[in-house]
Amino acid sequence: KRKRKAVIAGNWKMNNTPTEAGLLLEALIPGVHDADCEVVVCVPFTDLCNVVAKCAGTNVHVGAQNVHFEKSGAFTGEVSADMLLDLGVEYVVIGHSERRQYFGETDETVNKRTLAALNAGLKPIVCVGESLTQREQGVTEELVRMQVKIALKDVTEEQVKNVIIAYEPIWAIGTGRTATSDQAQEVCAAIRKVVGELYGNDIAEGMTIQYGGSMNPANAAELLAKPDVDGGLIGGASLHAGKFCEIVDAAT
Ligand code: PEP
Repeated sequence: KRKRKAVIAGNWKMNNTPTEAGLLLEALIPGVHDADCEVVVCVPFTDLCNVVAKCAGTNVHVGAQNVHFEKSGAFTGEVSADMLLDLGVEYVVIGHSERRQYFGETDETVNKRTLAALNAGLKPIVCVGESLTQREQGVTEELVRMQVKIALKDVTEEQVKNVIIAYEPIWAIGTGRTATSDQAQEVCAAIRKVVGELYGNDIAEGMTIQYGGSMNPANAAELLAKPDVDGGLIGGASLHAGKFCEIVDAAT
């Protein structure tokens, strides 16, 4: 039996118009209704309204894929945590490697967004992970420890209970090259260790730590069987209701 309830979160990235989102959910919602884990879909801003409405009264929880760190004001094009909360959004992905790579996201802005999300009452899914070069240079653990520490700066003990950390090796995202279950376990355990150093063992033992990176129906069960892997952040496979449901089944 797993120590913590698993959380399986789909990250749709920039896919699915509101119309397409509706169709995908019609297939997905019945497929996961008896899930034993927490099921989340993290969708584009433009889909949120429809998705929240469709998921109301189901066991599917809704997340956004980013949030701005300021409360309100002259930040054209940005979306605040209060806006998401008021819409009925519960989770938000923060610091996805695509945002770090293409949109100038840094550990510092990840920390600001994490604090903004928590202060508003959203549950952040904070993404960390190394590049292939960093793994080959043997600095994975050091790097991920630092990413976690900076992301959680000024996050209180009470707040950190609402944080999920997703370990996503960049070389495994969207590449079909999954980390081995041992590699995933090793880094997820290292993340739990640093959380323990910061907040104590009880909080570390309660924290949900996901793996993400080419997780699919064929490899999910083995990854999710590892003691420190409490779920998955699923990109590509979350766009297919059937595949996503199979991964959810693997987590139960
Ligand atoms: C992701 O986007 O978080 C992800 C893990 O993508 P994929 O499953 O496609 O590798």
